[in-house]
Amino acid sequence: RAWTEEDEAIIATNTDASECKRGAVELGYWRDDYVQYFSRRADRRAPEINRGYFARVRAIEILVHQFLERCGSKCQIISLGCGYDTLYWRLRDSTRAVGNYVELDFPTVTAKKCQIIKRNKALMEKITNEDGEVVIRSGDLHADNYHLVGCDLRCVAEVRRKLSSAGALGGAGAAGAGAAGEGCREALPTLVLAECVLVYLRPEPAAALLAALCAALPTSMVIVYEQCNLDDKFGEVMVRNLESRGCLLAGAAGARGGPGAAAARLRAAGWARAAAWDMRAVWAALPAAERARADRLEPLDEHELLQQLHAHYALGVAARGALLADLELDDP
Ligand code: SAM
Repeated sequence: RAWTEEDEAIIATNTDASECKRGAVELGYWRDDYVQYFSRRADRRAPEINRGYFARVRAIEILVHQFLERCGSKCQIISLGCGYDTLYWRLRDSTRAVGNYVELDFPTVTAKKCQIIKRNKALMEKITNEDGEVVIRSGDLHADNYHLVGCDLRCVAEVRRKLSSAGALGGAGAAGAGAAGEGCREALPTLVLAECVLVYLRPEPAAALLAALCAALPTSMVIVYEQCNLDDKFGEVMVRNLESRGCLLAGAAGARGGPGAAAARLRAAGWARAAAWDMRAVWAALPAAERARADRLEPLDEHELLQQLHAHYALGVAARGALLADLELDDP
């Protein structure tokens, strides 16, 4: 498949995200011992942007831990458009073990992530099992309970194939060292993570992807974080900024509405219980001590810009299956 210039611009959003995250980590917003390996430099952004990244990373982390608390270690996480996300390694350092962790992104991104992992002992030692077996084949990496696979999320058949090769769905059979022989894991509680990804897909392929995943995963939770309310003045500036870098927000049509539209999209995909909030509500729901700590790191003269920024990002959560029936979705 030939990649377009637009694809290249979308791929570049990952560099941006990892540099911004590294910048915020270096300022002390949150701890991440691994982000340093994935970005050559830390991007020093405005305090509001750092605050936005902190809210995004922290809120997702809290939800992931809620999922793991309910489901135990016999579960799996599928990260769509993972970029250089370090959640796998951060979870390995916490007490929360995950049965199977699968990351998907464009092959260019996964190939680079693969090289970075191979080069750095601190990353590598967390993916190897006692036998130390890591299979790298056609740019994909398969370890005992960690898989990094390249694919185009716009092609559901390819996503299915890659998830099967990672032992996350039934089908071709697991290619991973320890995954082989264990059978498919689609019956396991599964968390699907889409952090700033679906907005780069046109609404139809994004909907098809969500629907296919929901149908295949009877016990699952999905977390979607992305832009919303893009049809007002501030939203238009956000769109123009990305477009000026050649990156069309293909899913902008899907992000025109507010958080209600984000929740409706998850319901339409098949997750009957869904909710979404804009990041103003999510920020207000974060523990007061953590918010105060962020305020001390970089005091804001005025909060208007932060409020505007937070009003243009939404966090959506949905769940299905008995194990997740008691997941509170009323408040953030
Ligand atoms: N989830 C990571 C995070 O939040 O740090 C990365 C977010 S980055 C803004 C968007 C990622 O989605 C990029 O790594 C990009 O390559 C990936 N992506 C977008 N469209 C994709 C597609 N059609 N197939 C595979 N990956 C895609």
